[in-house]
Amino acid sequence: MTIQPTQMAQTPQRIQTSVCVVGGGPAGLTLAVELARRNVPVVVLEASAHFNRSFRGESVSPDSVWLVDRLGLLDRLDGTYVQMHRMEIDDSGHTVFQAEFADFRYPHPFPVELPQPTLLAALAETGAAHPCFRLVQGTTATALLRDAEGTVTGVRARTADGETEIRAALTVAADGRFSKIREMSGLTYRKVPLERDVIWLKLPFPYGDWDDRTYRVRIRGDQHGLFIPTRPDSVRVGFNIPKGGLREMRAQGLPALYERLDLLAPELSKAVRESVHTWSDTSMLDIFTTVVPHWSMPGLTLIGDAAHTLTPILGQGVNHAIIDAVTLAPLVERALGDGGRGSAVRLLAATEAFQREREASVARSRALQLRQERLFTLDGALGSAWRRTLYRVVSSSPWLTRKVLAGAYFQLQAPGERVAKVQAGT
Ligand SMILES: Cc1cc2nc3c(=O)[nH]c(=O)nc-3n(C[C@H](O)[C@H](O)[C@H](O)COP(=O)(O)OP(=O)(O)OC[C@H]3O[C@@H](n4cnc5c(N)ncnc54)[C@H](O)[C@@H]3O)c2cc1C
Repeated sequence: MTIQPTQMAQTPQRIQTSVCVVGGGPAGLTLAVELARRNVPVVVLEASAHFNRSFRGESVSPDSVWLVDRLGLLDRLDGTYVQMHRMEIDDSGHTVFQAEFADFRYPHPFPVELPQPTLLAALAETGAAHPCFRLVQGTTATALLRDAEGTVTGVRARTADGETEIRAALTVAADGRFSKIREMSGLTYRKVPLERDVIWLKLPFPYGDWDDRTYRVRIRGDQHGLFIPTRPDSVRVGFNIPKGGLREMRAQGLPALYERLDLLAPELSKAVRESVHTWSDTSMLDIFTTVVPHWSMPGLTLIGDAAHTLTPILGQGVNHAIIDAVTLAPLVERALGDGGRGSAVRLLAATEAFQREREASVARSRALQLRQERLFTLDGALGSAWRRTLYRVVSSSPWLTRKVLAGAYFQLQAPGERVAKVQAGT
């Protein structure tokens, strides 16, 4: 692949731009679109040559649906996503929690199921309409460039045609949960493994047994499964296994997997046997959260999963990736000023302000997820009874239901200052 020069750029071997984003996932592409709309030259490097990703980031929270709408993308995505209308938790065969999203009086009360490749392609298309936007696929950032003071000045990258350097006033690591840029930067972080991992698989949707607008959680003892309707005509299933337990499960063979699912969702017994023939029909997600005390340093900031990996509960990864991007873009625009170069000091202040603005919200979602994960792991008669009682109490109170779900779904759309701030930026 040959890299074309950007607006400010020079030769294929060396590109000069204002912002270099490493990673064309939801965080990196949303940020690039938001910067390009503001006439800030931006280059996105994406290691993969395509957007195809299975089992990833398809649940998009109501707050992000609201943001995607404000970015003018929702109409473009019409027909590619499904609105979810309710959530139902079943514990040991009893429905213990139900929430109707229509009961929440927000502009966008419904989460949606939207395939990540569709979202990324729409973002890339939107970006391509702006002359300041450049996406370079099939290109991997391999090293950070720094000046004599240690300020990050860009990255070195590997393309199919050889090496290139991208010099930028600000480099943004949007390279996901295993961020290499975070590693190279020396920014410290704490990885907190959860007690269990999750196996994902996709099955034909059991129409007749289930309606396709309901998120289902099924719990039996300390085992739980998430059942998420997915386009087209499928259900995405995620169920827990002990931490690092994949090898043991594989040794037991696929019947062990079938039986796990029989226990949680007998409606899918036939489908799992007909659809899952090898372990490569499944995908294992190592569940951990990452806490990064400082998201930025001179010339560099982290966003999305690179700054705060979350767990799959209530689909928060894409949500926070998009909110990060929308929050950061106006701060960077202001710090860069008219010339698009900015001073390192102003950029650092902007990226630090970005972290201050975002980290409480991320911490709130993380705390909700960890509380939920602890509930899932409760076992024994007493633990299970306590869990069922808790769900029933929350379910019987619209106020409590709203309060619990707000930590994941309605942080931006809640009335107050935060909405005004984000709106001012968009
Ligand atoms: C199995 C699974 C299911 C999930 N389901 C959901 C869900 O339903 N809802 C939800 O909200 N979240 C879900 N997530 C999490 C969600 O996918 C992430 O939180 C979200 O994609 C984070 O966005 P991001 O842009 O920060 O990072 P990513 O989406 O991980 O994007 C990072 C990008 O950087 C690229 N990259 C990495 N290194 C380099 C490099 N050196 N040079 C160039 N490019 C590089 C990668 O190719 C990738 O495209 C799921 C995750 C997994 C693994």
